Amino acid sequence: MRSEFHPSPQPPVLVIASGNPGKVREFAALLAELGLDVRPQPEGLEVEETGHTFAENARLKAEAVARATGTWTLADDSGLAVDALGGAPGVFSARYADSDTARIERLLTELEGAPDRCAHFSAALAVADPQGRIRLEVEGHCPGVILDAPRGDGGFGYDPVFYLPEVGLSFAEMDKATKARLGHRGRAFALLEPRLRDLLG
Ligand code: IMP
Repeated sequence: MRSEFHPSPQPPVLVIASGNPGKVREFAALLAELGLDVRPQPEGLEVEETGHTFAENARLKAEAVARATGTWTLADDSGLAVDALGGAPGVFSARYADSDTARIERLLTELEGAPDRCAHFSAALAVADPQGRIRLEVEGHCPGVILDAPRGDGGFGYDPVFYLPEVGLSFAEMDKATKARLGHRGRAFALLEPRLRDLLG
């Protein structure tokens, strides 16, 4: 009898539309169970974030990277909104200063003496198909307060000054699983995951 060779199907490729290694790491961990071939976006691919909201920027990045790569693409736009600063740095979180240290310094300087240190992180996620059409969109939020000084050495970005009173830890003091459960990206991802499974599973 002639035996036929059935190669196992290749898992779908999903490109993460971000040049930020901290974010790519968090997404790779969140996506680990989906059995997808998760890849970072090609080097040198820069998408201008001209949107006025996190959702608009996530859509722009997902569409552009999907068109450039011809693959399913997950994009995130995220940032920190501080109540006493009228929601700043918001969509300008990455552009607030030149480095994580400088961004934290600027934030702490602007908040010096402020009695209200409430803030929240937001993450908008968008998934585009290989033709660049948006197929899924979700948003997650995480409320917290801005500390007077950095605490902890994990994570990235504003993590050392973002504190969650209910667990008594800054984002930079949490293990990955706790940040994934409580953080804005993890919360957005929890909304996305079942729909992503339906789409690509
Ligand atoms: P973008 O989404 O690439 O425009 O960048 C958002 C910026 O917000 C990042 O560069 C960080 O400074 C900040 N940010 C977003 N998510 C987090 C987080 O989970 N922890 C700390 N900072 C974050």
